[in-house]
Amino acid sequence: MPLVMRVLCGGVFGSAQVLMLSGIGPADELRKHAIAVAVELRLRHHPHGTEHPAAVAPCASLRPDPGAAPLIDPAFFSEPAFLRRTTHSAAHPVGTCRIGPDAASAVVDPQLRVHGVAGLRIADASVMPSLIGADTDAAVLAIAERAAELLLG
Ligand SMILES: Cc1cc2nc3c(=O)[nH]c(=O)nc-3n(C[C@H](O)[C@H](O)[C@H](O)COP(=O)(O)OP(=O)(O)OC[C@H]3O[C@@H](n4cnc5c(N)ncnc54)[C@H](O)[C@@H]3O)c2cc1C
Repeated sequence: MPLVMRVLCGGVFGSAQVLMLSGIGPADELRKHAIAVAVELRLRHHPHGTEHPAAVAPCASLRPDPGAAPLIDPAFFSEPAFLRRTTHSAAHPVGTCRIGPDAASAVVDPQLRVHGVAGLRIADASVMPSLIGADTDAAVLAIAERAAELLLG
């Protein structure tokens, strides 16, 4: 039977939330909400170098009510030294389900397929591996076009 391909486009926080509600994500966070772990993936990573902690590692945590919006922690105060150097905030979070080579370091592969999950791709700002040097909307459209190409084969 041909594999049905689904594409998740819930955005930086929505896609991370849907994955977690489906048992895909950090095991400790899932177990806190009595969600069976289907695939353990790291939905955020620790920034390094000059990456802005808030832009690269926003955190979407679940609430007890699965229908409620996720708790969003932009981690603005997690790196006081960085904050003092560069204080600036904007509405362009990325990278909760970033692209990378394997499940140990990323959520989707370069073809946007969720590591360890058959038939699921993500196509939105959540897959950006790091913050781009511009506003994010055009890059999201490029990701969407690439996803369409991949789906069409
Ligand atoms: C205030 C603000 C201003 C911005 N200004 C600019 C700008 O000037 N230029 C620029 O380039 N970028 C701008 N951005 C950033 C840009 O809007 C985003 O990078 C872009 O929209 C991300 O696209 P996306 O597809 O990843 O997510 P989104 O556009 O957020 O789309 C995700 C969609 O999924 C839906 N969704 C989420 N969870 C679920 C669920 N469980 N079930 C069903 N639906 C769900 C959401 O309602 C939403 O419609 C701005 C962002 C904000 C917040």
